[in-house]
Amino acid sequence: MCGIIGYVGGGEAAPVMIEALRRLEYRGYDSAGAAVIDGGHIKLAKTSGFVAELDKKIQGGAKLSGKIGIGHTRWATHGAPTDNYAHPHLSAAGNIAIVHNGIIDNYARLRERLIAEGCVFLSETDTEVAANLIARLYAKCGDIKQAVAQAAEQMEGAFALGILCEDYPETLVALKKESPLVIGVGDGCAYIASDVVAFLNETREIYRFEDGEIAVITRDDIKFYSPELRELTKRTERVDWDVSAAEKGGYEHFMFKEMLEQPEAVRATLSPRISNGRVALDIELPPEYLRGISRIYFVGCGSAHYVCVVAKYNMEKLARVPSEAVLASEFRYSSPILDETTLVVCVSQSGTTADTIAALREARRLGARVLSIVNVVGSVIAQESDYVLYTRAGPEIAVATTKAYSAQLAVTYLLTLHIADARGTISQTEYEKLLRELSALPNKIEQCLELRDDVRRLAELYSDRENIFFIGRNIDYAMSLEGALKLKEISYIHAEAYAGGELKHGTMALIQDDTLVITMATYGALAGKIVSNAEETRARGASILIITTKSVADTVRHISDNTLTIPDTHELLLPSLAVIPLQLFAYYAALVRDCSIDKPRNLAKSSTVE
Ligand code: GLU
Repeated sequence: MCGIIGYVGGGEAAPVMIEALRRLEYRGYDSAGAAVIDGGHIKLAKTSGFVAELDKKIQGGAKLSGKIGIGHTRWATHGAPTDNYAHPHLSAAGNIAIVHNGIIDNYARLRERLIAEGCVFLSETDTEVAANLIARLYAKCGDIKQAVAQAAEQMEGAFALGILCEDYPETLVALKKESPLVIGVGDGCAYIASDVVAFLNETREIYRFEDGEIAVITRDDIKFYSPELRELTKRTERVDWDVSAAEKGGYEHFMFKEMLEQPEAVRATLSPRISNGRVALDIELPPEYLRGISRIYFVGCGSAHYVCVVAKYNMEKLARVPSEAVLASEFRYSSPILDETTLVVCVSQSGTTADTIAALREARRLGARVLSIVNVVGSVIAQESDYVLYTRAGPEIAVATTKAYSAQLAVTYLLTLHIADARGTISQTEYEKLLRELSALPNKIEQCLELRDDVRRLAELYSDRENIFFIGRNIDYAMSLEGALKLKEISYIHAEAYAGGELKHGTMALIQDDTLVITMATYGALAGKIVSNAEETRARGASILIITTKSVADTVRHISDNTLTIPDTHELLLPSLAVIPLQLFAYYAALVRDCSIDKPRNLAKSSTVE
């Protein structure tokens, strides 16, 4: 995720772009840059850090004069967040500049081909590949929109591009494929942006730009083309949002917006790592090393820890490697027994969680290898690990994690499958089946999000409870842990998660008339067991809300007061679907209780003290 802006008009482009990039900074903020065309030549300024750094560098625009430009605030996915890797990227000949949001899945193949054709690259980014591909095609056909259309045909993935070409000093070209991009029409000027919030103070007239389309934009004319370059007719629309609502995509809270972004975050995390029917991790894990692993520790805090709990169950089930999920804050002081055959997997959204950093350092000191699952490129945990698998969730603003959690789960599935394959514990049929289900996950998450009206009604019904219990077994227990945490952190309702079989060993004493027991019954193999546990609470007066799957629903519905049904998937992947109603429940309960949803009391986004 990142922020793109483009401007063409009668005024100076740089100050407009700086203002817009500040508003887009919520989409990414590890580096920023801008390019203009002035006197027939592209001029470029870029820097690591915030947009404020870029503003300083170009002195508010004085050092980057031009009436057409493209700008970018980055959230690195390919290559470190350095000055050089900031966007815009230039083609090798310097005649084409592009800004890019998203990921070009097949960039490595395209890059190799371009290198074989003599192209020299200055960075590891997928963006530079797109710049050179367009330049190459332009050199052959001499028409920029044709070159962009041909490049679009060759590039796989989800991306949006803003493009400048020196031979078209008054034209912006834009391309959209599954990443957001809108076009604004002002008085004698036009804008492209990842989000309307970028130019809402300047204009409210927009064109919606659909997937696959190409736009060719001058200050007084905007033309849209289909992928086959058929000209399209479009009408403008008027946007009524105020700026602060627009930052949240028109929603009241970042958390809600981020919940809805989960299909995109999971897709961006998975799709570049599934290629030709195989898991294709972007790190080198030698098979002989994977075969020799004696134990895996999954280490994290809060929701990241609950990702670890899911990963532990899945890794043992599928890859048969003894695994443990350990709280980062405990790991360091628990005299862990580690050696070179131990793999420690550290999970952290920010990559700066102090407890997880301490655990990582201890693990390395004791000779284990560390693989981290991190969202922020170049963060401390990423830098100090032997291997990094980045989640591609983009910046997460709400303190309560949703999309980063979902992206972390997605990475654990890839890792589990990859290790199971290397160790020969999975059959080819099972491997293919799991991979198919993995690819279908973003769409199924989308279907779970459609349950939101039902969940809202239930959350409103139960939001006055002082205590809510969550029960489940196996991965359903792992989901109960996340469901209870989410509810506690944003709605302040006291919630506890229990492994279904454990209730009777004490906690059952707390069950009384109308206690709500949210029962996770998605894991078919143990559905009968969890039903018995829920029955025990029901006999003591509890109300039961069941979260189950289509295929399990009939076995469990009879004991529930209310049921939420999610789609079926491979049993290992159920947590990715089951978590959605839990997040929605916490959100709507907090909404009724008028809580500070994006910034819950006493909490911070990343915990940088031990
Ligand atoms: N893949 C590009 C990069 O790493 C764009 C990332 C983004 O969307 O910010 O630079």
